Amino acid sequence: MLNFPILQTKTDLLQWREDQVSQVSFVPTMGALHKGHTELIKAARGFHNKNSHSVLLSVFINPLQFGPREDFQSYPRDLKSDIKTAIESGATAIWAPTLDEVFPKGAENHFKIKVPQNLTSHLCGPFRKNHFDGVATVIVHLLKLVQPDQLILGEKDWQQLIILRNLVKDLNLPITIKGVATVRDNDGLACSSRNQYLSKKERSQCLSLQRELKKAAQDRNHGKRVDLKKISLSLELNGLEVEYLEEVDPSTLQPPTKSKHLTLLATAIRCGSTRIIDHTFLMSRKPIVAIDGPAGAGKSTVTRAFAQRMRLLYLDTGAMYRAVAWLIQNKHINPADEISVKNSLQDLTINLGLKKFSENPKIMINGNDVTDAIRSPEVTSIVSLIASQKAVRTALTNQQQEIGKTGGIVAEGRDIGTTVFPNAELKIFLTASSKERARRRLIDLQKQGLSDITLKTTENEIKKRDEMDYNRDISPLRKADDAKELITDGMTIEEVVDSLENMFRMHVPEEIWPTSKN
Ligand code: C5P
Repeated sequence: MLNFPILQTKTDLLQWREDQVSQVSFVPTMGALHKGHTELIKAARGFHNKNSHSVLLSVFINPLQFGPREDFQSYPRDLKSDIKTAIESGATAIWAPTLDEVFPKGAENHFKIKVPQNLTSHLCGPFRKNHFDGVATVIVHLLKLVQPDQLILGEKDWQQLIILRNLVKDLNLPITIKGVATVRDNDGLACSSRNQYLSKKERSQCLSLQRELKKAAQDRNHGKRVDLKKISLSLELNGLEVEYLEEVDPSTLQPPTKSKHLTLLATAIRCGSTRIIDHTFLMSRKPIVAIDGPAGAGKSTVTRAFAQRMRLLYLDTGAMYRAVAWLIQNKHINPADEISVKNSLQDLTINLGLKKFSENPKIMINGNDVTDAIRSPEVTSIVSLIASQKAVRTALTNQQQEIGKTGGIVAEGRDIGTTVFPNAELKIFLTASSKERARRRLIDLQKQGLSDITLKTTENEIKKRDEMDYNRDISPLRKADDAKELITDGMTIEEVVDSLENMFRMHVPEEIWPTSKN
């Protein structure tokens, strides 16, 4: 405790900030720390067991986010105990500024952030007027002072998390946001500083929240109907007053479209004088990530690494088209003869060695191991012609959709986001300049022992294939409207995978994908 920095003034903070050599993760809180905050601090130290970041935890009760009849005055304050928890959880320093340090002109006399209506028109927004404006405003002030590399927020306040993600994106702030799964006490109640307001009886009434939400998630998972009215009634019967119980799209916070496989079911209840929020995610299948892009963009390498990191199945659809191209070549069929190609697809069995996260899965077609053979320049030279044919596309698309039926998959190809999995939770269009793509492909070929191929030949091959893939009639290579483009020139594999993970986290809550702890 003696050497633990307890910062108060701006000067203390700036001095501390200057002294940090590693990246700084910032955990903003209002104090009254509990198990949930402990997890935020642990996550802030660095994901994937790196534990390499400095962690600054702030304790600041922001008046701007309380309504006139809310608990600003009575909000639990215990800095001594917060300092103890921060130290025990591995924080590097605590910052507990006064109101004047954050808002020198008085909270009401500084510029404020107005959160767009579409992010506040549902869930807590209509019941807590100006609350999210107050949160967004204080966060901008705190970020300006702390200048962190990462901002660590709990998924418990999901609406707040989404609003702040949008804020950081809109203002182009150079900060990565990490959401951390909701932490629950042993009885199932989500940890919250306000839980200490509950009497024993009230706490046991609140447990129906988690029970009902959990049941709804199970029902959706089993394809059963989730009846919000029935859930509300059941909560009311347990003595809880339901402020809202709503199902929304977790990214837009708007009512979900029918095609959504992942939604947020969130509620706010009152138990006595205490307001409690909780949520669950409803999933009719596990998440799907679609990665499309032109040849040589590094899709296979980064997709495989990303799949391993996130424990997703990796589906290389290019390998399927290559396997068919190999078959055609092996049977000495003219690749332009569509009827013969179609006939050769009868009784087709392709096995991609899925279900394992192994480095190099074995690729089999009709019992032949073609793992290496499908990467040959001969197969590469005919694959786009084969892939442009209707019969081939139909057969392979059906197989791919079957493989992805239960989700939990990252599929890579040309038409994944547009045709194969148009409802994927995350769509990426991965690309790089043609020079860079040719350079990468050449390195791959040289690794295969093909040392007589030049950069120029590789560039021409890629250009030819791209042209066919972009211009074919059926499922041409396209960036899906809702895909995010990632240009990978100058990025290392690790950087691309980090970037994919960040995008994944924006769309898929850690609560349903607890990947950070491994
Ligand atoms: O990604 P890869 O280079 O292995 O893909 C080989 C070829 O397979 C591509 O050039 C393209 O013609 C075809 N393909 C496709 N649709 C996919 C994946 C690959 O047409 N989903």
